[in-house]
Amino acid sequence: MKKIVVLSGAGISAESGISTFRDAGGLWENHRIEEVATYEAWERDHELVLKFYNQRRKQLLEVKPNAGHYSLVKLEEKFDVQIITQNVDDLHERAGSKNVLHLHGELRKVRSTADPNLVYKLDSWELNKGDLCEKGSQLRPHIVWFGEAVPMIVPAAKISSEADIFIVVGTSMLVYPAAGLIDYVPVKSPKYLVDPNAREIRHISNLTVIPEKAGTGLVKLVDELLAN
Ligand code: NAD
Repeated sequence: MKKIVVLSGAGISAESGISTFRDAGGLWENHRIEEVATYEAWERDHELVLKFYNQRRKQLLEVKPNAGHYSLVKLEEKFDVQIITQNVDDLHERAGSKNVLHLHGELRKVRSTADPNLVYKLDSWELNKGDLCEKGSQLRPHIVWFGEAVPMIVPAAKISSEADIFIVVGTSMLVYPAAGLIDYVPVKSPKYLVDPNAREIRHISNLTVIPEKAGTGLVKLVDELLAN
């Protein structure tokens, strides 16, 4: 079975109603990134950061996967599909995709500020100041903030190096190290980039750009791959 590796970004969830931040001029749901998605922001104001992620978690309960997410589930009929997502939502899993690696963490999980190995699934949408881990320290969102290390980049690079086909969808290819994963894909493997505002990536060989939304461009691409 051929292996298809998919690198997804915020754009694939846009048609579900979760906004990207680049499309909103550097704002994510009306907040500047430096205000809510950096370690400095957390140090400055635990409550603001917790409130922001509580709102994102609450919103997640109100949205559903879209045609783009479902098309990747269909791809599993004929291919070994591995998704590497920059998204912190769980829409790939809720659509039914089996193999999903989260590069930037997961909204539905929280972790200890004393021991990063203590990760918990949150039952409700709310995490508050004073919610503690078993060692007695404040819990924080299980999110890779800007400026923090990306531990899952190592397995993600290995998976990318094994791709027979590589699909990039809904990402500006501006956030590193995620954007560098395409460099690990074998030169001979076909690569596709589905994004209505796709930038030119000159140094990548075998790349086909599909300047469309996931709901149309990705769905068509999946149908073509399944038909061939
Ligand atoms: P990004 O850098 O991945 O850029 C979003 C891209 O999506 C843009 O290039 C845009 O042209 C494209 N796009 C917009 N609508 C689309 C559609 N319908 N179909 C396909 N592509 C579409 O993502 P970002 O918004 O800059 O966010 C970067 C980081 O911020 C993420 O990696 C994540 O950690 C966090 N974030 C997560 C979510 C989420 O989990 N859904 C949402 C926003 C931000």
